[in-house]
Amino acid sequence: MEKILVEVSARHIHLSRADMDVLFGEGSELHPIKYLSQPGQYASEEKVTLKGPKGTAGVRVLGPLRKETQVELSLTDARSLGVKAMIRESGVLDGTTGGLTVVGPKGEIALDRGVIAAKRHIHMTPADAEKFGVNNGDVVAVKVVTDGRSVVFADTVVRVSDSYSLAMHIDTDEANAAAISGTAEGEIVAF
Ligand SMILES: [Zn+2]
Repeated sequence: MEKILVEVSARHIHLSRADMDVLFGEGSELHPIKYLSQPGQYASEEKVTLKGPKGTAGVRVLGPLRKETQVELSLTDARSLGVKAMIRESGVLDGTTGGLTVVGPKGEIALDRGVIAAKRHIHMTPADAEKFGVNNGDVVAVKVVTDGRSVVFADTVVRVSDSYSLAMHIDTDEANAAAISGTAEGEIVAF
């Protein structure tokens, strides 16, 4: 079976147009510094500070702008900030909590929702899905073999779109659990 590239997402934020205006100024734009594996997605020059009840953390803004602001934390990040992060797929924010203040160079916003720990997932094209014998929304297990800390990641959601390219995304806690630094390779297995 073909191996899947496993990439690690550090904590980050996606911003809405309205929140971008408040944090960076009316009509401000993001400045891409690094394009990510998913077409059109990038890390920007722009950073903000998250303030929680127990601590603060700097995060990079990922572009492009989205319909709604979303903060993606590891559960360790959430604990040190003193907030709750529900495990959710990106963009599925109903019922999520906030509790963070986002501080930018031009202003700040108080979030009352949109703080999540991203549910681990695999992006794939329809052709990839056919090859792996899976469908959009399927939940699979992915085995990642590392030096002394191999892990099978169950509860991994398959997300299929023409606009994706094949890659699995995990957060820094998940990466640390498997001693992954940089990227790794995974394989869908029966679980
Ligand atoms: Zn992803």
